[in-house]
Amino acid sequence: MKVMKRCSKCGKNKPLNDFWQARSKSHGRDWRCKECKREYMREYNKRPTSRELRRKQKPRKSERERIYLKKLRKKAFEVIANGQPIKCLRQKEWKCCSYSDFDFLTFDHIYNDGAEDRKKSLVAQKLYGWIIKNPQEARKKLQILCRNAQAKKELERIRRAQLFDYSLRT
Ligand SMILES: [Zn+2]
Ligand SMILES: [Zn+2]
Repeated sequence: MKVMKRCSKCGKNKPLNDFWQARSKSHGRDWRCKECKREYMREYNKRPTSRELRRKQKPRKSERERIYLKKLRKKAFEVIANGQPIKCLRQKEWKCCSYSDFDFLTFDHIYNDGAEDRKKSLVAQKLYGWIIKNPQEARKKLQILCRNAQAKKELERIRRAQLFDYSLRT
């Protein structure tokens, strides 16, 4: 009489030879039949490897990029500040801000030629890179302002332009 064993996966009673040997298991055989094991391995091998998984995890990569960009931005601020504390240039005069949190600070184009630079697609990373590579030119062109000060500066520029317009008309 053939010894039979029930496969815990498919529930079928099968001869012992239909199970792989497994010393630690009952009857010295695997808990599932060869057929079920084969099916399992097929699915198992279909799974992405940890390397493929890592490649798929884009958030991690963008997180790295974010940290890199943050460091680059800090370095660019240090270049413009040139040994002085990194803070808004008009802080005292306009009382526009009281913190030196980098998130509130921007690189302001002293001569309002920012639009032209933007046309040349000087996006953040490029701008930071340019500042770090050309510190002297960058210090001539850029100053550190908080976002409020930058808005106020733009408002004053518009007011001056309107005043100029008005003086021409009268
Ligand atoms: Zn089975
Ligand atoms: Zn400010």
